[in-house]
Amino acid sequence: MGYRTHWIHESKTDMSSEPLLRVENLKTQFFTETGTVRAVDGISFEVHEGEIVGIVGESGAGKSVASMSLLRLVENPGEIVGGTIEYRGQTIFDLEEGPDGELREHPEMLSESEMREQIRGREIAVIFQDPMESLNPVFTVGGQLREFIELNRDLGGADAKREAIEMLREVGIPDPEERYEEYPHQFSGGMRQRVLIAMALACEPNLIIADEPTTALDVTVEGQIIDLVDDLQDRYDTSFVWVTHDMGVVAEICDRVNVMYLGEIVEQAPVDELFYETKHPYTTALLNSMPRPDQATELQPIEGVMPEAISSPSGCRFHPRCPDAREVCARVHPETLDVDRADGYPHRAACLKHDVFDAGYEESPPLPDDRGPDESGPMTTGAETDGGSETDRTASEAEAETDRDNGELRE
Ligand code: SF4
Repeated sequence: MGYRTHWIHESKTDMSSEPLLRVENLKTQFFTETGTVRAVDGISFEVHEGEIVGIVGESGAGKSVASMSLLRLVENPGEIVGGTIEYRGQTIFDLEEGPDGELREHPEMLSESEMREQIRGREIAVIFQDPMESLNPVFTVGGQLREFIELNRDLGGADAKREAIEMLREVGIPDPEERYEEYPHQFSGGMRQRVLIAMALACEPNLIIADEPTTALDVTVEGQIIDLVDDLQDRYDTSFVWVTHDMGVVAEICDRVNVMYLGEIVEQAPVDELFYETKHPYTTALLNSMPRPDQATELQPIEGVMPEAISSPSGCRFHPRCPDAREVCARVHPETLDVDRADGYPHRAACLKHDVFDAGYEESPPLPDDRGPDESGPMTTGAETDGGSETDRTASEAEAETDRDNGELRE
């Protein structure tokens, strides 16, 4: 993009270390009366020790469902239907094909009780967007924190209370001994979020999933929470999966970033690489719609709205809104490919412009500017869960068609 700034977080990622969390081809679907919603559709990413990995995208991109899938906390009618989730060599989720051809849980997959007793809270904790939903309004903040410590650590009574007060102090709550006795409604939004951070850190987990934790806060308090997390992350060396719709937050806190659109990761890169060497038009659109300290240009809202995941456009799912879309984009689903490397880190993108297998982007005519849903090609119904999806079939048919097109062009 041709500029350099100093407002972007300096990445501390050590990709040579074994990943703490490895997610491969994860698929989570919701089975509704109107059809199957492919909320998360084959995403893969890793989280290494001590790094903050962002998942960013608009509402409806599937980022919160993706983050809840990591702890198998998807509620009915949702279900994880495919892929692998590994945490420190333990299998959180994996399916294998049985002799009858049916998919079933891998024998090494952690049971629900093992998830509850060994993983959730202790190894991987969560911070939600709305602290009022996580805190019980009829119990004191200190009492809830103490109870959480008693349940998850080998501490009880006075020791647990002392630890709870210490955690409140740690996250910057003034007069923690007095505030320990207060109720959630007596805390401001920012202070309540600090309490949730204290709760998440209380068991010294290796990984914290933060689901839009600053979205409900004003910008000043948001900045304070980000500074707090940055500081705590340095001291505890905790890794984070940070879910947000805000590229400004991504710039401030994340080491590496996954950009999600309609259930898929469309770009994946270290944070500075993502901002300086953007490869996907959707990421460019997100960046152009955020205020930036290094540019005084007018903000450009992203054209159109994200379609429902139940009716994903064929081909590239972003094509109805993409300023660079060509006719081939409505037919061919782009693969996620390594398109660059920066300091040894891969930069991946799913866009036909970078398709080394030559899907025919260059030769394809542009799509009309006034394209609407009708020009988006066939919509997927998402009715299948095993075997190829409608999108897959459309893509393979389209690839064959593209080959024919390319052959005709060569002639
Ligand atoms: S594949 Fe085509 S429509 Fe999709 S992001 Fe790339 S240029 Fe845009």
